[in-house]
Amino acid sequence: MTETPKPQDGPFDCDVLVVGAGFAGLYAVYAARRLGHSVVGIEAGEDVGGTWYWNRYPGARCDVESVDYSYSFDAELQRDWRWTERYATQPEILAYARHVADRFRLRRHYRFNERATAATFDETDAAWTVELASGDRVRARWVIFAAGSLSTPIKPDIPGIDDFAGEMLFTARWPEEPVSFEGKRVGLIGTGASGIQCTPIIAQSAAKLTVFQRSPNYSVPAFNRKIPDDEWAEIQASYHERRQRSFASGGGSPHEIDPREVWDIDEAEREALLEDGWKMGGVLFAKIFQGQTTDKNVNSLARDFAEKKIRAVLRDKSLADDLIPTDHAIGTKRICTDSGYFETFNRDNVELVNLRRDPITAIAESGVRTENGMHDLDMLIFATGFDAMTGTITRVDIRGPGGQSVAEAWSSGPKTLLGLMIPGFPNLFNITGPGSPSVLANMILGAEQHVNWALGLVSAAQQHGHTMVEARSDAADAWTAHVDAIAGNTLFTQAKSWYMGANVEGKKRTFMPYIGGFAAYIRECEQVRRDGYKGFVFGS
Ligand code: FAD
Ligand code: NAP
Repeated sequence: MTETPKPQDGPFDCDVLVVGAGFAGLYAVYAARRLGHSVVGIEAGEDVGGTWYWNRYPGARCDVESVDYSYSFDAELQRDWRWTERYATQPEILAYARHVADRFRLRRHYRFNERATAATFDETDAAWTVELASGDRVRARWVIFAAGSLSTPIKPDIPGIDDFAGEMLFTARWPEEPVSFEGKRVGLIGTGASGIQCTPIIAQSAAKLTVFQRSPNYSVPAFNRKIPDDEWAEIQASYHERRQRSFASGGGSPHEIDPREVWDIDEAEREALLEDGWKMGGVLFAKIFQGQTTDKNVNSLARDFAEKKIRAVLRDKSLADDLIPTDHAIGTKRICTDSGYFETFNRDNVELVNLRRDPITAIAESGVRTENGMHDLDMLIFATGFDAMTGTITRVDIRGPGGQSVAEAWSSGPKTLLGLMIPGFPNLFNITGPGSPSVLANMILGAEQHVNWALGLVSAAQQHGHTMVEARSDAADAWTAHVDAIAGNTLFTQAKSWYMGANVEGKKRTFMPYIGGFAAYIRECEQVRRDGYKGFVFGS
């Protein structure tokens, strides 16, 4: 094995540079090293964990069951790590990422507190030179960009935002030190998955919580619980088979939609299926009937059921009217997974401000001003989302041999081959980016599959003496058209979601992830491999 250079030694060369130390980056470092590559990792945070390092807000949990939302690559790791709850908390998931880093000695490859800011490709020796914020540079033949799909938080452009004199916090940059809400008037802007998870916990101790809601979201209770020992033993006994089902599924977890045509199921049974689906909890409620996200009538069955459930919880009818979405089909924005969200609005110390009726006009020293008046606050929390899927890679000035940056190449929307490579950017792999199932599937298994496939392509190139691989532009056009066409047959494109880029001013509206399903995507990747990496060009 080539000796891995010590990252602290300044400018250096390596075979594979990995950007990011979240679950994707950690696996990329592990897998590339296992193949004998010299590997260097760059991570902006001061430790591993990615999403789970940054998003430490109270109530943060995964919404894919932990036994599934975990690495599958090592049977002993899978056996040794005991998940305590169905949906693990952020501290437990972060502890898992740290355990993996320790167990496989991955940290020694990384330079932490370091950011990749730019990269250029030199065709004469087929290598990327990556500029770092510290001023150092890394040269690498291959770059695995594993910098996250939801890793660039948005600070909203609200007039006066920096004038607020109280405590200002972002869920996606939550401090490590404990935060107390005790006796405070807390404001929360944002009612997506992050805002919905932290609302009930803040309300428990704040003097008052004011939730500023621009768009309501569908949320289904997590029905979270501890995993007892006997259940854990059963999971362990069938883990391998469970993983196989996950890789053969639509969403990367072992749950499948009832195969029957919905209208062939009688009403009573449909109701029972909805009830069971509801009790599965969270995002799984998007997967009850065939056609649920393609046919408005089928979708309405699930939507109306959810509405009934939410109304049953809320004491005040007009609050229910405000909290239940009517602007999108259920599941076409990610269904949130909550623990007592709607119940929280029955509390006397919680107020909902419907920004559609009463918009924010400014943030002032003492709080948030809306058209109807001033809301005085001691603390203001932003759970305002991310420049998802494209925002992180386009913020790095990556320029291919033609001189064009990724941001320029994607100005009219992202274009990729299999979501993994961008034409004009040889030897650069983007992990769980646009054009891949990405955020629509269990992202840890997605990252494993991506990294394995990308490293397989690197090995194939090396076996034939090639030093360069690039996606052909026409092949990327065809893949992107395919991704668009599948999305166009669903209700997803009608929702103003971050999947569509609709949460970022000026961002091209296009459905970014591949929605054909995780298993179908894996089959596409395998077919391309079997066809001698059709659509990719090799060179030296
Ligand atoms: P990340 O975890 O985002 O890691 C990327 C890393 O790259 C970050 O640490 C970042 O600091 C670093 N980085 C970025 N740019 C640079 C740069 N220029 N230079 C150096 N370093 C850089 N997905 C699921 O499947 N199930 C879930 O339950 C789930 N829950 C989620 C909950 C929250 C609160 C959020 C925000 C997302 C959730 N996701 C979930 C999606 C989640 O992002 C992925 O599951 C997964 O953690 C992503 O791993 P990653 O390694 O690809 O990216
Ligand atoms: P999000 O879903 O994009 O939600 C952002 C919220 O902020 C929205 O309610 C948005 O309103 C609001 N907002 C943004 N700018 C605003 C402004 N200027 N004024 C008022 N409101 C504003 O972001 P997120 O909650 O962080 O979740 C993002 C994704 O991360 C999720 O969909 C999920 O994939 C993942 N996640 C998962 C979990 C989990 O349960 N495991 C938890 C958190 C995150 P509009 O809708 O009107 O724009």
